[in-house]
Amino acid sequence: MKKTKTIGCEEALKHLLAYLDQELGSAKRRELEQHIEICRSCFSRAEFEKLLKTQLREAGREMVGASLEKRIKTLLGRF
Ligand SMILES: [Zn+2]
Repeated sequence: MKKTKTIGCEEALKHLLAYLDQELGSAKRRELEQHIEICRSCFSRAEFEKLLKTQLREAGREMVGASLEKRIKTLLGRF
């Protein structure tokens, strides 16, 4: 039986940000999703980046400035 070919961690991480920005083509997007499904570390990384993006967006909207660094550190501390 032929094993489903997926991309490696290196490639997954390379495309992760574009993926989260919805800038990835459907083929690459599928490959990345498949990889994230089977790879725990890339899954965590994707979740983390997603969270970070949300936090940064909220921070930007609120113009919190100084506390942004603190927030990111808190966020990083969780991982
Ligand atoms: Zn991986």
